[in-house]
Amino acid sequence: MAISYKPKLKHTQFQDLTDQIRFLSSEGKIWLGEQRMLLMAVSAMGAFRREMVNSMGVARAKGFFLRLGYQSGLKDAELARKLRPHCEEIDIFLAGPQLHALKGMVNVIPVQVEINQETGDFYAEMQWIDSFEVEICQTELGKMDEPACWALLGYACAYTSSFMGREIIFRETSCRGCGDEKCLIVGKPAEQWDDAEEFARYFKADPIIEELYDLQSQVSSLRSSLEKQQGQYYGIGQSASYNKVCKMIDKAALGKVSVLLLGETGVGKEVIARSVHLRSERADGPFVAVNCAAIPPDLIESELFGVEKGAFTGANQSRPGRFERADKGTIFLDEVVELTPRAQASLLRVLQEGELERVGDNRTRSVNVRIIAATNESLAEAVEAGKFRADLYYRLNVFPVQIPPLRERLEDLPLLTEHFLRKFEAEYNKHTLGLSDKALELCLRYRWPGNIRELENVIERGVILTDNNETISQDALFAVFPNSEFQQASPQSSEIIDDTGQVVSGDSQQGGPAHWAESIINNNVSLDEVEETLMRRAMDQASQNVSEAARLLGLTRPALAYRLKKAGILQKN
Ligand SMILES: [Zn+2]
Repeated sequence: MAISYKPKLKHTQFQDLTDQIRFLSSEGKIWLGEQRMLLMAVSAMGAFRREMVNSMGVARAKGFFLRLGYQSGLKDAELARKLRPHCEEIDIFLAGPQLHALKGMVNVIPVQVEINQETGDFYAEMQWIDSFEVEICQTELGKMDEPACWALLGYACAYTSSFMGREIIFRETSCRGCGDEKCLIVGKPAEQWDDAEEFARYFKADPIIEELYDLQSQVSSLRSSLEKQQGQYYGIGQSASYNKVCKMIDKAALGKVSVLLLGETGVGKEVIARSVHLRSERADGPFVAVNCAAIPPDLIESELFGVEKGAFTGANQSRPGRFERADKGTIFLDEVVELTPRAQASLLRVLQEGELERVGDNRTRSVNVRIIAATNESLAEAVEAGKFRADLYYRLNVFPVQIPPLRERLEDLPLLTEHFLRKFEAEYNKHTLGLSDKALELCLRYRWPGNIRELENVIERGVILTDNNETISQDALFAVFPNSEFQQASPQSSEIIDDTGQVVSGDSQQGGPAHWAESIINNNVSLDEVEETLMRRAMDQASQNVSEAARLLGLTRPALAYRLKKAGILQKN
């Protein structure tokens, strides 16, 4: 029997539903039937929605909210069946719109409802008044380009589909959130909509992480093809220790042997790996760089070796891993020590047999890939600690190349500096006069714990902070902090830079109060910070002896002790 609904039933009477709400504040819970509910400010939901839209775009955000409403609709359909077992089907059905109203989401006015659970016929038109999502648009997001009652729509689809036992799709034909006069929805079986399939896609979760990885590998392959066009990429340097590395690379490049690059972080391992690739017979093939430490351990296998659809939740599509993408080329595995035991086993198999299986697949695929691995930890120690397979270590360690840290090849620093200056001047569309002599001298005296990458960052900072046609000063390169007043200066010392990149003046004659005062002010250091830093330094120098530190600072012991306690450096006891 098809019931055509004209607004004659009192759809506003739903005491049976209201009775299901229990506020148990002593337990911190609100119940609707057997569902635990939340009372949540619309403004908080609005801010959340705005953030979703801004960070992942309208289409993805819409999917999230449709699915949010969908989950809630499924629960309520269950509740409606339970509460109104003996009612007419139209009254059972109307529990959905009534629950929507009860929850404060929207006032639903049925315009026409034709419903028949036996035949599966369904058609409905309803009006939504005072949708909370329209309110969010008005207060948080501004007018949208398309209907905006996403969560409400997801709810209607799920509730009705569950109720009818077949897929029913609702669409918002007009919406106040996009400037229409009313929010109107129409619902009918999925097959009666032309674009049902397209719409259904919103209900599938669509993890953004896969897309990010895809983009990342596209960027890396674009970058390497760009470098290929620019000719062979060579690292920069002419020091003896760097030349030694270059000679090793030239020898390694000829064969297919695996290369293991060793050295501190930031020494340019990827540049060297690219050089090996570009000087090899594989130069026309792909170069794929992977930082194993940057990929979550549970994704590393599928990322490297590929995945078959359905291998795990979220694996919506089959896709090749980095090894397949690097076929006939070179793969660079940075931080290889981070590989999980399973990934280590698969890597060993690639090395030994030249074959792999995607995660969730039992088909064997052969790959022809040269492997260059790198680590800044000792692999031998990792083997000893049981973190890394010994057999894999021996395979990777056939041709080890030790890349020296920047402080052991400082004669290359001017060349490297020139290179990065050109790079960042082009990037920021600037022309500087290069480093001041003093700035260069400081660079040559610094220990560079972050090596070439740190130099690159420092030069970038210098270019940003320096005006056109001006010299890059030491202050533009390094964050400055002086301690000339309390450090016992040796006669020869002047500014040095500590491991954190701060300039530390060791020469009270040369700097003088005017110099460090200016530096403090230029760097927005507060007086409290100056005082606290001075006291900490003095205490360190005095081996935490308050009397000695007081003498260094020209204070009495009680005066310093008072200040130390006030600053929280010394416990108040
Ligand atoms: Zn709307």
